[in-house]
Amino acid sequence: FIHFHDVSKSFGITKVVENLELEVEKGEFLSLLGPSGSGKTTILMMLAGFEETSAGTILLDGERIQELPPHKRGIGVVFQNYALFPHMTIAENVAFPLRMRRLGRAEIDSRVKRALERVRLGALADRRPDQLSGGQQQRVALTRALVFEPKVVLMDEPLGALDKQLREEMQLEIRELHRRLGLTIVFVTHDQSEALTMSNRIAIFDKGKISQIGTAAEVYDHPQNSFVAQFIGETN
Ligand code: ATP
Repeated sequence: FIHFHDVSKSFGITKVVENLELEVEKGEFLSLLGPSGSGKTTILMMLAGFEETSAGTILLDGERIQELPPHKRGIGVVFQNYALFPHMTIAENVAFPLRMRRLGRAEIDSRVKRALERVRLGALADRRPDQLSGGQQQRVALTRALVFEPKVVLMDEPLGALDKQLREEMQLEIRELHRRLGLTIVFVTHDQSEALTMSNRIAIFDKGKISQIGTAAEVYDHPQNSFVAQFIGETN
């Protein structure tokens, strides 16, 4: 469904993604794990269209997407620092991606209403972000990513800034949305237990390459090489 074929990315002379081959199935929840600087965020950025590839092909649902601008790719993104617009209400924040797509006023209003009700935030539509808790703000960010019914959602440490309890609540919420909406999710996290509980598969990155990819059981019970064994041993 998502297919990276021989994709590389360099910044200057530094190669941060090297000849990547990666297939993500429709409806799959894939987590990317690996040391800082191993290229995980860069992969999401290329898929979302915020960074160009240096070489290779990215297919989404059979279509080459590299020539498409981000808003035409059908991909929603939730990044840790992808803050809400502070001067806009919650409803306006969620409406923003729809306005970018030039939908009509009535259609935008009804979609925003539906989306906020789905995550039980309907009552807070007219508030501003600073009047919401961290978890509520994160739910709004998630809602904004889902409002145009994307095929794929990319999340980069979306729960990194939250305390333990909120984090667990949001993990449940994301899993629920994943199941209910049949989303394809690519999720970057530093939290191995989060990756373990949420994912169908885990990819462990080392210096711009996938060192191992498989189910949690495959990766944790049968690390294929000493890098993976050490990585999961160290931080577990
Ligand atoms: P982290 O876990 O810390 O988020 P990561 O695995 O997501 O790390 P990337 O953010 O993809 O890693 O970064 C990979 C490498 O590319 C890093 O060495 C980083 O410094 C470099 N890099 C990323 N973006 C740029 C950029 N715009 N210009 C130059 N170098 C960059």
